[in-house]
Amino acid sequence: MDTNRIYLDHHATTPLDPRVLDSMLPFFGARFGNAASRSHSFGWEAEKAVEAARKAVAALAGATPREIVFTSGATESINLALKGAAEAYRSQGDHLVTMATEHHAVLDTVRWLGRRGWRVTELRPRPDGLLDLADLESAILPETVLVAVMHANNEIGVVQPVREIGAVCRRKGALFFCDAAQAFGKIPIDVSRDGIDLMALSAHKLYGPKGTGALYVRRGIRVSPQMEGGGHEFGLRSGTLNVPGIVGFGDACGIAAREMEPEGRRLRELRRRLLSHLQSELPGVEVNGAPEPRLPGNLNLSFDGVSAESLMMAVPEIALSTGSACSSATPEPSHVLKSLGLPDSRIRSAIRIGLGRGNTEEEIDRAATRLVAAVRKLRGLQAA
Ligand SMILES: *Cc1c(COP(=O)(O)O)cnc(C)c1O
Repeated sequence: MDTNRIYLDHHATTPLDPRVLDSMLPFFGARFGNAASRSHSFGWEAEKAVEAARKAVAALAGATPREIVFTSGATESINLALKGAAEAYRSQGDHLVTMATEHHAVLDTVRWLGRRGWRVTELRPRPDGLLDLADLESAILPETVLVAVMHANNEIGVVQPVREIGAVCRRKGALFFCDAAQAFGKIPIDVSRDGIDLMALSAHKLYGPKGTGALYVRRGIRVSPQMEGGGHEFGLRSGTLNVPGIVGFGDACGIAAREMEPEGRRLRELRRRLLSHLQSELPGVEVNGAPEPRLPGNLNLSFDGVSAESLMMAVPEIALSTGSACSSATPEPSHVLKSLGLPDSRIRSAIRIGLGRGNTEEEIDRAATRLVAAVRKLRGLQAA
């Protein structure tokens, strides 16, 4: 493999921060205890590490540790939140509201509930990807139990008006579930200020390990567990805890809390540099989705007249994506870009660029130069 490769796919996953790896290693070795073992020091030491991590995750979310339930990742957290709240609040209504631009983990779980008797309203975004609050207002009915709207989008990076959404839900008496897998650790989140009742998190999107995540459950909100077993995690998620993963998640949250601001500024500057390089040398480069508010590391670009697949093949040393990682295995055009109402040609030429912690100015300049050359060549082939 090319040693000069450049990773620009930080929305699919992020590399494990070496500091996080260091904090995890002892828990693969001498500190192997089961956090649920109450009768000896092996267990106590694991439990202590888990509780420290729970505190760090809670602090980054503006929550209390008792409101954090560790899971295997955001997909599990989403399933637990949506199925669990639907079950617990079934007597209070039969209607759910979500958005067409949600991650498949949310859309498919909501549709699963739809096949089990729930009525579902799937709101379309405005052409810039943001939710129209007036649409939300009119979608919430007296029978609406829950509204599911993500924080930041995993394809176009746009950041929804979460605080306003939370206020509308509160006023209308619906629970607010927020998939914050992309936003957590990148932009400030405060579940109190934002009025979030349930929130899904994933460690591997903020330089932590894969296979670890959490569900924030506001105090007093009921969620029915979706797995039977030993009653771990306040009875909400049975199963022996993934102690090394949880320790890494906690450490990743601590690092994000300290570095989010300067790193956000650095990524914004790298993104500005990349976009201005591309747009100054190439005509027909369009940004998909609202330019702001957007995750600092996200760019979703369409290169007029060039298919995304051929562009990616022309720059094999640069890790890019045509959409979400799951949809890139199938030739289906992105459901997110489609819901913006963009023409097919623009969707077929869309590339998702995700900048992250490891990227340097030198890499960004090299990637831009390679992309410019590849786009010129592909356009030239078509013209010939
Ligand atoms: C990655 C992602 C998920 C799934 O998270 P996993 O921890 O990989 O299960 C869900 N929602 C969004 C927005 C994501 O980016």
